[in-house]
Amino acid sequence: MKNNPAARTNPMKTHSEEETRAVAESMARGFKGDEVVFLIGDLGAGKTVFAKGLAAGLGLSDVNQVCSPTFTLMNVYQARVPIYHLDLYRLANTPEIRDLGFEDYVGDGIIVVEWAEKIDFPMPAIKVRIEVASDDTRTITIE
Ligand code: ADP
Ligand code: MG
Repeated sequence: MKNNPAARTNPMKTHSEEETRAVAESMARGFKGDEVVFLIGDLGAGKTVFAKGLAAGLGLSDVNQVCSPTFTLMNVYQARVPIYHLDLYRLANTPEIRDLGFEDYVGDGIIVVEWAEKIDFPMPAIKVRIEVASDDTRTITIE
């Protein structure tokens, strides 16, 4: 079971960064190419780690490109399909988020949003909740 994340139950526990990446990677391998993924969890929970796994599963060769888009608001990675990566942590107001116009990208690739709970999004999304259980253990719930 441990080597087959897709077969695990929900919620699941991971015990390392690598294991969380593997869960995300196997999820993304099943993506059609237009999914919206909301990553919900505190600072340091593992949202960016999960985003790296998604990118790997979508065929991005260098996942070190994947980091929280702190200054640019949105990063774009060219994988099998484009990946639009947003982190809303520093965004205080909704107009700023509206100005991104990222809804325009829906359907054109995968949209991955950290701190998505900060604003109301109209579109349906896969919600991934990551909680710190202890040092290296995370509880991951997929809705
Ligand atoms: P976030 O984007 O949610 O703020 P990051 O993904 O940047 O968090 O960082 C998560 C940190 O937690 C990393 O330093 C990672 O190595 C560490 N970590 C420890 N155990 C795990 C685990 N089971 N899953 C994911 N990350 C883990
Ligand atoms: Mg992050």
